[in-house]
Amino acid sequence: MHHDERADPLVDLHHHCLPASLLDSVRAAGNKSKIGVGLSRRWSGDALIFPQGRECPLDPAMIDLGIRDEGMLSARIDVAAVSVLPLVLSSYLDDLETAQWYAREVNNGIADDVARSSQKLHGLADVPLQDPAAAALELRRAMAQLGFVGAQIPSHVGNQNLDAPELDVFWEAAEELGAVLFIHPAAADKHLRLGAHALFNLIGNPLETSIAAASLIFGGVLTRFPGLRFVLAHAGGFVPWIYPRWEHGSVAGAFPDIPTLDTPMTELLRRFWYDTIIYKPEALQYLIDTVGADRIVVGTDSPALMGESDPRDLLARLPDLPVESRRAILGGNALGLLGSTG
Ligand SMILES: [Zn+2]
Repeated sequence: MHHDERADPLVDLHHHCLPASLLDSVRAAGNKSKIGVGLSRRWSGDALIFPQGRECPLDPAMIDLGIRDEGMLSARIDVAAVSVLPLVLSSYLDDLETAQWYAREVNNGIADDVARSSQKLHGLADVPLQDPAAAALELRRAMAQLGFVGAQIPSHVGNQNLDAPELDVFWEAAEELGAVLFIHPAAADKHLRLGAHALFNLIGNPLETSIAAASLIFGGVLTRFPGLRFVLAHAGGFVPWIYPRWEHGSVAGAFPDIPTLDTPMTELLRRFWYDTIIYKPEALQYLIDTVGADRIVVGTDSPALMGESDPRDLLARLPDLPVESRRAILGGNALGLLGSTG
């Protein structure tokens, strides 16, 4: 019997927004000199301004609920877990009080969008990870009071990778809450020599994701917190391709600061989930062969231009993929992740 894949729900775990009520709160809070965050008019249009020259254009496709609902309908996305645009995360803010305020406003804004959308949305919180205890508190509030499914976390915090021991208090809370932790590349534009040709995006983003995954593996976070559930953006960056080098480095004894791993690398790779943003069916097939179809979830990166606009089509271009695997990747795996929170 012919299987009609259009009937299978599509669940998008990588979908960005910039809540309108967040912008209202920033506007109401007044001049950016007071709080470090502000709105500004640029020749190219209005922008949300962060310290250190970081700014985020106010793109209606990110802000306007009607546009997003329409986009989900036309892309045939049934459910989306929305996270704030990673250009403007609370973890970039040095002043902790501002960061905590900003994260709360982001999350209240996302909750507002989730409530008002005509489409089925879930919230992924922004958390001020530079203060892991405060981040744990905000994650708890977002999940308990706003019904969020977890958080989007940056690939690094300040100058530290995700295996910094200070973060244990956050991992503990996330594990206890059953949070989905969506790791998104952050501040990739700070890498040297990635300024031209948008290399900060084309190379910096997958590099950031790879550093995050390697830190969680070699730093023992995955082993110490077996219940943590991480989703890696952009199909895991370089991870699926480069992991044999990590494996080789860890058994060859060439590096004193790589611990002996008690768990095989291929098993550790299966501790992550990976989104489908890889564009090419052959590359997606390699990811499926490497980590398993049960570890892959749809991401679109909507409405960003670097997104994967038609995941159903990407999967349809793998005609030999078993129906159960297709269904699992389209939505089953994500529903399993989202369903077991809280
Ligand atoms: Zn993204």
